[in-house]
Amino acid sequence: MNDTLRVPGDVLAALDRAPGRALMLGHVHPDADVLGTLLAIAEALRARRWSVVAGGPHRAPDALSFLPGVEGYEVLKTLDGTFDVVVLTDCPNPDRTEGLIDAAKDAAPVVVNIDHHPDNRRYGTVNWIDVGAAATGEMVYRLLTALRAPVTPTIATNLFTAVHTDTGSFRYSNVTPETFDIAAALTAAGARPEVVSSALYERRAPDALRLLADALARVRVSDDGRVAWLALPSGAVPERLIESEELVNYPRSIGSVKVACLLRELGGARVKVSLRGKGEVDVNKIAAAFGGGGHANAAGCTVSGTLEVVTRRILDAVSAALAAPR
Ligand code: 5GP
Ligand code: MN
Repeated sequence: MNDTLRVPGDVLAALDRAPGRALMLGHVHPDADVLGTLLAIAEALRARRWSVVAGGPHRAPDALSFLPGVEGYEVLKTLDGTFDVVVLTDCPNPDRTEGLIDAAKDAAPVVVNIDHHPDNRRYGTVNWIDVGAAATGEMVYRLLTALRAPVTPTIATNLFTAVHTDTGSFRYSNVTPETFDIAAALTAAGARPEVVSSALYERRAPDALRLLADALARVRVSDDGRVAWLALPSGAVPERLIESEELVNYPRSIGSVKVACLLRELGGARVKVSLRGKGEVDVNKIAAAFGGGGHANAAGCTVSGTLEVVTRRILDAVSAALAAPR
């Protein structure tokens, strides 16, 4: 792999310059791909004597408190001062920053958008979108290599976690030979797979399995077995369980299921929907019909209406997609 050739020159130029002040801007409800990549770039720039602010509209979830440097990730409602460069990672849609992207554009001459979502809106002044990357973590590994930035053990841990989570622990169809090449390089650089796996999957609270059992009792499967869904009224399970468990993976794990849905009732008569596919239908097209988006096999949207009505509308859309010839 020739990294320099595969990282666009304008992305390298934006970061390979005299140190200044940089903002690593995360989107709403940041996950490990967002946080790991922002923290990795932040560390690499700080090593080059940049002054770096990392933050976004929402705090990092407790489940990711093990990421090195995440304690410095700030909750930002407004931006202070000006920046030489702003970097967003894994953020397809400027609406997902609660207005901070507009403030960032006023505060900085250069906004770098690094992402692997097919529906990326190219809102940056510099846009690098690689839909073939399993995770933005792969792209940022290539970026740091091209910049000749040392990949420290803490950078490696952040990027390994990004790749690990976005590939469902190296299980999904987005995994390529390069995913393993990069994971191998990150492991050689000091990421420890067993530490990351244990931090992600073996830190449940003592009551977590009982709460999980209560939640999973609500899973429903369609008569033909091809759709499974979990509809959660607000308050039915504690927020910390939703944050720490990828609940949609349980209906997904049923063998006959082609599309799995998690529907969570939010305040204000809105429902957050997560969709997972297995290649039969592009769930991002279903999500897009409701104003959301994502990847072919993992997408989401937020829909107005009661839990009952939104569940029905989503299930109808899923049935229609499964019935339609591809
Ligand atoms: P999750 O279901 O884990 O929230 O998200 C799965 C994928 O769908 C992620 O790639 C995420 O970026 C995308 N996604 C989730 N919710 C939304 C949404 O409301 N709008 C858009 N555009 N994408 C979403
Ligand atoms: Mn991602």
